[in-house]
Amino acid sequence: MHPIVIVGAGLAGYTTARELRKLDKDTPLMLISADDGRFYSKPMLSNAYALGKTAEQLALQDVAQMQAQLNATILAHTRVSGIDTAQHTLTCDGKTLPYSKLVLALGADPIRAPLQGDAADSVLSVNDLADYARLRQSLAGKKTVAIIGAGLIGCEFVNDLCAAGFTVQVIDPNPAPLNRLLPEAAGAQLRGALVKIGAHWHANSKAVSVNRAHNVYLVTLSDGAALEVDVVLSAIGLKPRVALAQQAGIKVNRGIVTDRHLQTSAPDVYALGDCAEVEGLVLPFVMPIMHAARALAKTLAGTPAPVVYPAMPVVVKTPAYPIVVSPPPAGVSGAWQVTESGEGVRALFYDAQQHLHGFALTGKATSEKLTLTQQLPPLLS
Ligand SMILES: Cc1cc2nc3c(=O)[nH]c(=O)nc-3n(C[C@H](O)[C@H](O)[C@H](O)COP(=O)(O)OP(=O)(O)OC[C@H]3O[C@@H](n4cnc5c(N)ncnc54)[C@H](O)[C@@H]3O)c2cc1C
Repeated sequence: MHPIVIVGAGLAGYTTARELRKLDKDTPLMLISADDGRFYSKPMLSNAYALGKTAEQLALQDVAQMQAQLNATILAHTRVSGIDTAQHTLTCDGKTLPYSKLVLALGADPIRAPLQGDAADSVLSVNDLADYARLRQSLAGKKTVAIIGAGLIGCEFVNDLCAAGFTVQVIDPNPAPLNRLLPEAAGAQLRGALVKIGAHWHANSKAVSVNRAHNVYLVTLSDGAALEVDVVLSAIGLKPRVALAQQAGIKVNRGIVTDRHLQTSAPDVYALGDCAEVEGLVLPFVMPIMHAARALAKTLAGTPAPVVYPAMPVVVKTPAYPIVVSPPPAGVSGAWQVTESGEGVRALFYDAQQHLHGFALTGKATSEKLTLTQQLPPLLS
């Protein structure tokens, strides 16, 4: 009997395997991972530095422990380079491996900022344990960091590195941070809080080039400013890893396209996590992965189950200014109704019929998260 093969050993791959093993202890199962296969919590990467955590301390289980826990074979440091969907085989390290069912849990790649300069290649991004280890190594004994991008991950690193005592130069093309998630009033308060703990904000500007200048990097901005820093970290977004599926003739759009059953356009091939576009939704967060993995496990175990997404608010890990946000789904038209007080911002997104479709809560208003979440319609019912 050919194994079920899961490509990817991040949260999506490992959670699918765990959920499958709750339903089916024996079907041969193989996981293949380009990285070292250690299990870790990726959200910790953007708030671990101030806690003094090393990459080793963030790794919760190694491959041997995961193999035993999952009754699975795990091929680490192994990159899948091709899939033959007609033959039900995949290629890695020059070998051909058969699968009965295939799960693509490939994650996403950090988007590279289009930078000029002789040190553009030295700009870091953090999307896995190895990246985090590199960041820690680069920061050792240093004082100043430039962070390009003030989205969710960028702001979390700003908070974490300020809390760790660094001077942080933040470069973002928008007037206020988290501009895709928050109304501007709430973003402005976050920015104020981060500035208070040591961030220097360069709003409405982009990084243009990064050059070496003696022992520092010189970051030039679109407004003409030039910043001297020790480390440059880019956090301008992620793009789903679709190339492997695309080469195999599997339908891709922004992500690997799946239906409600996480089924791709190829028979017996499924996708979930940061690489997937499930019924038009690309949701690179933990909660959608948990829901998708539970549904997919049932399907893999023989009882097809559609994924159901309730409203899934995201807690932004900026302790300097707590935020929880449930952004309105793309395509829903409406407007924010914003109430500001000294204690925080309460922003509610209503459509023309006064139905609630999203919220952003900051400061003390975050205590309303549960009540408001219950009023939101599910993303996929
Ligand atoms: C810094 C940071 C902070 C975050 N904070 C939060 C948060 O607070 N809340 C939240 O909800 N979400 C957060 N997220 C997002 C969340 O962590 C991700 O959505 C989730 O971890 C993605 O899991 P994944 O398994 O889809 O991808 P990944 O964890 O990236 O796993 C992908 C796997 O695929 C493997 N792979 C890729 N290509 C191949 C190939 N060709 N062959 C073999 N293996 C391959 C990789 O080696 C890896 O094992 C954060 C993300 C980051 C980067």
